[in-house]
Amino acid sequence: MGDLNIQVRYLLWVRFCERGGTGLSVPRPAGAEGWLPIAGLMNTKYFFLTGRVPAIHPAAMVLFIAFMLMSLLLKKAFCSWLCPVGTFSEQVWKLGRRVFGRNLHPPKWVDIPLQGLKYLLLGFFVFLIVAMSAEAIHDFMSTPYGLVADVKMLNFFRDIGETAAIVIGLLVLLSMLIQNFWCRYLCPYGALLGITSLLGPVKIRRDVEACIDCGKCARACPSSLAVDQLVQIRSVECTACMACVAACPAENALQFSLVPRKAATPAERWRRRALSPIAVAAVLACIFLGLVVVAKATGHWQTNLPRDVYMDLVSHAREAGHPGI
Ligand code: SF4
Ligand code: SF4
Repeated sequence: MGDLNIQVRYLLWVRFCERGGTGLSVPRPAGAEGWLPIAGLMNTKYFFLTGRVPAIHPAAMVLFIAFMLMSLLLKKAFCSWLCPVGTFSEQVWKLGRRVFGRNLHPPKWVDIPLQGLKYLLLGFFVFLIVAMSAEAIHDFMSTPYGLVADVKMLNFFRDIGETAAIVIGLLVLLSMLIQNFWCRYLCPYGALLGITSLLGPVKIRRDVEACIDCGKCARACPSSLAVDQLVQIRSVECTACMACVAACPAENALQFSLVPRKAATPAERWRRRALSPIAVAAVLACIFLGLVVVAKATGHWQTNLPRDVYMDLVSHAREAGHPGI
């Protein structure tokens, strides 16, 4: 809901600027910069190189760091708990299951090479950004294109061409057939979060003594992970959705937990180290709100351009060409 609210306010702000300051006036919601993960990555690099918070799209950096932190602590929880594309994707495959009666599971020889595509895309972006100096990042962000990169993104969908519409239609159809098609095969952001999540301490863990080998967890897993065969899920594809935990009928057999302590009794071990869905939601909210509140309080949330400059840039955003890197 919060995300939808931001999108509506953002659209109103763009329309206000395009109409030269007439109509409903709303402040620019900087949270829309969550749609600029590449700017977030570039700005994070700038921050680590210079020690200074970038003046252009600081919210993109704050949100990027928040989502990375979430992945570091709670697997790819961002994908299943917060990402609007992930949420849309989930609704689409559920719809596909209702329409076609089932979802398809590509065989391993198709599935594994396809999973590599998102790492290729990630490698491409990382390669470009690694080559940029702090000065080059600053110069890029200061161009008209960089300043209104968020509006360019919006205009891509508003002025969508035939080819792009066909590609998006095809992706939606494939997402109806295959669970989380975009996330599993193509999303470079998810690829980065997945790699980061390998370092995390909290994982889905199965107690083989309590498990009754019913296989319900594996059947419930939207990432097609063999939860019923493993003792812990290290996979980069685990999104901490906890569907497997919810499906498990055996008490304390499956938990999203830290490594259990050896000293306590088995049941106590799991209870003390396991995270409930409420605890996961609370940790995600603390990271998200904590960083946003600090950024706002220290003046590192909004891109502070004068209103008339924004109005000029936004109304000419369609003419702003990519400056190259
Ligand atoms: S169902 Fe379990 S193993 Fe599968 S993605 Fe969700 S949390 Fe991870
Ligand atoms: S759902 Fe629970 S009991 Fe069944 S196989 Fe998975 S972990 Fe074991």
